[in-house]
Amino acid sequence: MKAVLAERFRPILEAKLAEIDRFLTRQELPEPLADPGDAIDQSQNSAASDLAFQSVDLESGIYREVQSALDRVREGAFGICVECEEAIDEHRLEAVPWTPRCRACQERLEKQAEA
Ligand SMILES: [Zn+2]
Repeated sequence: MKAVLAERFRPILEAKLAEIDRFLTRQELPEPLADPGDAIDQSQNSAASDLAFQSVDLESGIYREVQSALDRVREGAFGICVECEEAIDEHRLEAVPWTPRCRACQERLEKQAEA
């Protein structure tokens, strides 16, 4: 049952990893603008690059989570909460396949972070 679950999500995780990989590579090697022209507003430019940096941060975080989810696939621990070792709800995995925690542990963690 667990192995089947892992095999079902493995290609999704690998695809996500490849997608982030491409995204991060693109951010590090930006394509030069073909023809910037005079119309481009400087402030708009810097706002766009701020946003890009935020995305890189976010994607790097997800990248690590997807990588450790793939580690758990290899270890046969995929779909098991890293905190309480209970099975993670399948609907939750479908929504966020790389989540390391069950809903209860995630909510507890978020409450702790707020406090
Ligand atoms: Zn848990």
